[in-house]
Amino acid sequence: MSTENIELISQLRDTVKKVCDDYPGEYWREKDRARKYPTEFVNALTELGLLASLIPEEYGGSGLPLSMGAEILTAIHEFGGNAGACHAQMYTMGTVLRHGSDEQKQRYLPGIASGDLRLQAFGVTEPTAGTDTTSISTMAVRSGDGYLVNGQKVWTSRAEHSDLMVLLARTTPKDQVKKRSEGLSVFLIDMRDALGNGMTINPIRTMINHSTTEIFYDDLSIPADSLIGEEGKGFKYILSGMNAERILIAAECIGDARWFIKKASDYARERKVFGRPIGQNQGIQFPIARAYAQTVAAELTLRKAAELYDRGEPCGTEANMAKMLASEASWEAADVCVQTFGGFGIAEEYDVERKFREARLYRIAPISTNLILSYIAERELDLPRSY
Ligand SMILES: Cc1cc2nc3c(=O)[nH]c(=O)nc-3n(C[C@H](O)[C@H](O)[C@H](O)COP(=O)(O)OP(=O)(O)OC[C@H]3O[C@@H](n4cnc5c(N)ncnc54)[C@H](O)[C@@H]3O)c2cc1C
Repeated sequence: MSTENIELISQLRDTVKKVCDDYPGEYWREKDRARKYPTEFVNALTELGLLASLIPEEYGGSGLPLSMGAEILTAIHEFGGNAGACHAQMYTMGTVLRHGSDEQKQRYLPGIASGDLRLQAFGVTEPTAGTDTTSISTMAVRSGDGYLVNGQKVWTSRAEHSDLMVLLARTTPKDQVKKRSEGLSVFLIDMRDALGNGMTINPIRTMINHSTTEIFYDDLSIPADSLIGEEGKGFKYILSGMNAERILIAAECIGDARWFIKKASDYARERKVFGRPIGQNQGIQFPIARAYAQTVAAELTLRKAAELYDRGEPCGTEANMAKMLASEASWEAADVCVQTFGGFGIAEEYDVERKFREARLYRIAPISTNLILSYIAERELDLPRSY
């Protein structure tokens, strides 16, 4: 890594640490209890331009590569914050950047870079289709000068805290296309116009504070220029954003794992039982050491994936592996941390139980472990497709 990059990473980490220091565990505990959106924390990151780091400079962002975005998200989680409330502001704009028209880029990217426009909702998952994305049934049908959207999405996170949304819908029914990945289109929806005019958002209460929702589309009328790229090619556009998303989520998992490992090691050094630090017992220190080794290994895979991505090379396998290994490392570290804390591991005041709940999500979303394993089996090992 160049000296320049080492310095940049150090600066980014210092900046993030300062923000996180202003929002200690107490802040996150309160938000978690009330299932409230961490507006103040998100505003602080926005004001420093951290969420606009991947937007090219010509549109008002910092034009940093994905690997630096990953460093920012790792640092947020390592220093006790949670980027789940806003990470999508960093990468959802990639769909507009890569596939939008010049007019769409000029219209939206500067506002997203400044934070005046929040684009941090994306509606792909549906209750019936689940992971089988090409089986979604939300339809956008040509009508007059635009489209009429009907259907239902689930797990559309941050929808109540977003001005714009990237939506995947069918424009041609599945039984009328040659390949099931055809006939899907991507739209950029202005939620400020849509709410109450065909779009209804219902929050879903979950075991973590994630501001996730289900959304009903009932004759929602959207203008024709909401379409991004070509009609019918949306599946390809969504896929092209998935590697970036997986790499960035893996980065958050690495941050979580580091947080758990530090928390567990600090506690194991200080807590005395039977007249000696519990960390002197190998039954306590070995699991922490193992979690550390797993985290470092996952981090190397993540670095490789990000490097390939930044060089514009194929990185599907690496991005998937990074996401799987990092989410498993953070989950292992979370479990070890609870065990190290004993009873206090499940007391709210140490933040371990909250982070433990939060760490579990990333083995499911944005893609679950089984689907990653089947990707590796099929693409790397030439094994027959299982679905
Ligand atoms: C908190 C949260 C936030 C989310 N945010 C968003 C969001 O903002 N936007 C969005 O579009 N989606 C979002 N998601 C959806 C997320 O991407 C999906 O939950 C995830 O991809 C898994 O899909 P599913 O829940 O439908 O599980 P299903 O597809 O129903 O699968 C259930 C289980 O079966 C396994 N399985 C399914 N098929 C196979 C197979 N062929 N072989 C082996 N195992 C299989 C899966 O691995 C999984 O473990 C979010 C989810 C959560 C929980």
